[in-house]
Amino acid sequence: MLAPGYVIVRGGRIAAVAQGRPARRPDIALPSGALLPGLVDLQVNGCFGVEFQEPDETAWAEAARRLPETGTTAFLPTVITAPVGALARILRAASGFPPAHGGARVLGIHLEGPFISRKWRGAHNERWICRPAPAAVEELISAAAGHLRLVTLAPELDGALDAIGRLTASGAVVSVGHSDATARQVAAAAEHGARMVTHLFNAQRPLHHREPGVVGAALTDSRLTSGLIADLYHVAAPACQIAFAAAPGRIAIVTDAAACAGMPPGRYLLGGQPIELPPGDGAPPVRPDGTMAGSALRMDAGVSNMVSVGIGLEAAVSAATRVPADLIGRGDLGRIAPAAAADLTWLGDDLRARATWIGGELVFGPGEELRGH
Ligand code: ZN
Repeated sequence: MLAPGYVIVRGGRIAAVAQGRPARRPDIALPSGALLPGLVDLQVNGCFGVEFQEPDETAWAEAARRLPETGTTAFLPTVITAPVGALARILRAASGFPPAHGGARVLGIHLEGPFISRKWRGAHNERWICRPAPAAVEELISAAAGHLRLVTLAPELDGALDAIGRLTASGAVVSVGHSDATARQVAAAAEHGARMVTHLFNAQRPLHHREPGVVGAALTDSRLTSGLIADLYHVAAPACQIAFAAAPGRIAIVTDAAACAGMPPGRYLLGGQPIELPPGDGAPPVRPDGTMAGSALRMDAGVSNMVSVGIGLEAAVSAATRVPADLIGRGDLGRIAPAAAADLTWLGDDLRARATWIGGELVFGPGEELRGH
């Protein structure tokens, strides 16, 4: 709905949605812009100086508390390739963190690696890449105690198809990424339960007209939804347009943000390794060898970037809300609909977050200014 309307919230949930003006004076009135479902980000390595590779409860809570400034109301902290034992320790610690009041919802953990392709490792440390041996997979599942929500792996690795089945059965969504898989191997992954492709176009076998690779499979297989880093550095504008045109309703905007997101230029960490955020407008951080290493993107900017290259506002918003929420089985998030959680974001006419509510509670923005009249 892109028209004047109103929302009734009761007990942290949306009770009703309607077009036009409400019968009685509203408690909150937005003077401009648009009311959106809160944004849902499936891939956040860190932000506001916090690196999720370090399972520090206070730091995680602080990052979650600040994310609503960017319109994000729910996210998956993302942990990248490290020794399996170290990953298990991180998962065990993080699964014990209580929900941070007043912050974006943590919907579980996204484990990106260590079962990935050496050839397409990107910023991941080659030393810790390994094959998905059953014991390693079980160790990670058990350490996460039900909090493993998304796992990125390369399905062409020895044992990967069994791992996909096991992870899917445990309740995680499996995503193909950092992968040299052929289109046929991606189809086999989907057969075994994989439902996503991680950061489409980046760190994967590209589309060739005789071997469509991960990209060709992602765009044509209706079982697969693709994450897309919408900073216009990781993926050029025409490639973003191709993705939305070829896979409508199957693109999820992600930030892949690193600790430097929302921070001044300088040195930060990604997966425990140094990265440098250069000065300049939204440019991503890089490793010392020049490899892009995460991004400095905000979710609201991801939406406005896609609108700026010609993606319709409804499609761009859907890609940042309903599509990612549905993919990880959270039909109660990512929409403004009766019974959904009252997670809402007010974007100004410039598509920047002005105010954010989680469970009906204002967690960012000018309270007084919005009083209804
Ligand atoms: Zn990655």
